[in-house]
Amino acid sequence: MNKEKRYQILSRLRQHNPNPTTELEYGSPFQLLIAVLLSAQATDVGVNKATRKLFPAAPTAEKMLALGVDGIKDYIKTIGLFNSKAENAYKTCKILVENYAGEVPQDRAALEALPGVGRKTANVVLNTAFGWPTIAVDTHIFRVSNRTKLAPGKNVKEVEEKLIKVVPKEFKVDVHHWLILHGRYTCVARKPRCGSCVIEDLCEFKDKTSD
Ligand code: SF4
Repeated sequence: MNKEKRYQILSRLRQHNPNPTTELEYGSPFQLLIAVLLSAQATDVGVNKATRKLFPAAPTAEKMLALGVDGIKDYIKTIGLFNSKAENAYKTCKILVENYAGEVPQDRAALEALPGVGRKTANVVLNTAFGWPTIAVDTHIFRVSNRTKLAPGKNVKEVEEKLIKVVPKEFKVDVHHWLILHGRYTCVARKPRCGSCVIEDLCEFKDKTSD
């Protein structure tokens, strides 16, 4: 895909959604970190349902630590892998309280050292809570980048590197959410909705649908 077309795709996505953000509900960087940690292999809707009760009871790392692992479990039982997620959330709170005065560090290495926090979670937190131009490639971004040919790659790392290289600076902070939302609602996995896609004329996918 050439530079001009890439620019047009990103401009159009911006035009349709000038202020994109996550669908996870949170009130602070700490709550976002916990919500993302809980969201592995779960839907944002399912996570929000649990955190609407968890966060009022434990809005800070100190308060969540006080809940204990079993206390956290009680709030997140409806989410897949809740046992290990509760353990990780508890251990993460402990480190935040002991080493960072309960705050979330704005530092990739420090974030990735937290239990249950990988590169993807760190990228989401740095991008969404702190406005860093990081791109967390999930299944949606991977699919949309490959289908459109915006940033094709064989694995998530390759797509992330490509996006970082080719996406112009003015789009870097928001591209992550535009592509996720586009993949979640329009360029869906099973059968993309090309007929109602705002970048249909620019996308280079060979098997477009008329839906
Ligand atoms: S035209 Fe189809 S394949 Fe291309 S981005 Fe839109 S929905 Fe996805």
